[in-house]
Amino acid sequence: MSPTPHNATHGGDPAGAPVSFEIYPPRPGVPHDRLHATIAALAAVDPRFISVTFGAGGSTGGRSLEVLRHILESTDVEPLAHITCVGNSYGGASALIREFLDAGILNFLALRGDPPVGTTPDDVYTGDLESAAQLVQLIDRVQAEHSPYAEEGVLPGAVRVARRHEVQIAVAAFPNGHPRSRRARDDIDTLLAKQAAGATFAITQLFFHADQYLGFVERCRAAGVTIPILPGLMPITSPQRLRRVLELTEESLPSDLAIALDVEPTAEGQREIGIAHSARLARDVLAGGAPGVHLFAFNNHDTVLAVLGEAGILATA
Ligand code: FAD
Repeated sequence: MSPTPHNATHGGDPAGAPVSFEIYPPRPGVPHDRLHATIAALAAVDPRFISVTFGAGGSTGGRSLEVLRHILESTDVEPLAHITCVGNSYGGASALIREFLDAGILNFLALRGDPPVGTTPDDVYTGDLESAAQLVQLIDRVQAEHSPYAEEGVLPGAVRVARRHEVQIAVAAFPNGHPRSRRARDDIDTLLAKQAAGATFAITQLFFHADQYLGFVERCRAAGVTIPILPGLMPITSPQRLRRVLELTEESLPSDLAIALDVEPTAEGQREIGIAHSARLARDVLAGGAPGVHLFAFNNHDTVLAVLGEAGILATA
């Protein structure tokens, strides 16, 4: 199954809508067994792809590849590799993309990346690879040089030269604006530039209300963005997680969810609130025409699968 989402083909019905997941490589020294169990559980619901994050500064490059290889070798799911500009020069990023292609990875999420805490942009931008749009073009070029053609067996002794499977290049999109954007219009212009560079679909930053995503998609379409825009959903299952996520993404506090989590005394009750919130969001964005849902899984399958069950996307036992 191709990982690329199609602009709403499921008619807004949540049952069987396409899903995908994001996971991250475990920290050094942490055994991979639990993550492997999570990957197996996520793969069992037949997602379009499972994406693996990439630490800014290239610190997790090798570890990302290990997880991507595991997905490739032990499941039927397409792995999708995040790659960042931060910490990479053109030369370094080209070598990394070749390494991923050599391993059989054909799907990428091209990102600018953020400077790691305690560094400045000058420490991490080497000067020649600065935006996600440049990285999209680079992935496209490296792929074309790496494997422009393949030989297909036609009859015994005869081969035909065929175009090799094209890479899929996703990019990030920001329904509520990137925190460093000067104007809301900048985010749409940046997405247009990434589309022009060859991006095949976009995955959004998390958001808390369906209108934020649906309004953004409408503005993108009016501006000429035609690629599918997959909504990124993050189940927030505790007030601590909400605080941490807001710190990382600089999104505004969703007061309804924050209050509901704060007044609920039990961890199990908070988890249920988070699952119900994400399930409602999933149903609403699908009803509004989203081409599927992409869930940030935090290396845990129980919560995201519960969201999909409650949203009516997966049949529950
Ligand atoms: P771009 O497309 O180059 O820019 C995005 C927007 O930022 C534009 O609107 C631009 O105008 C605005 N902008 C203006 N000034 C700046 C500035 N100084 N810095 C950045 N942006 C500016 N990060 C990781 O390190 N690893 C990951 O694996 C990862 N995965 C992600 C997955 C998703 C789905 C999303 C949405 C984000 C992810 N990020 C990840 C975070 C991402 O790298 C940051 O949000 C980054 O700041 C912007 O990346 P971009 O590719 O959208 O950049």
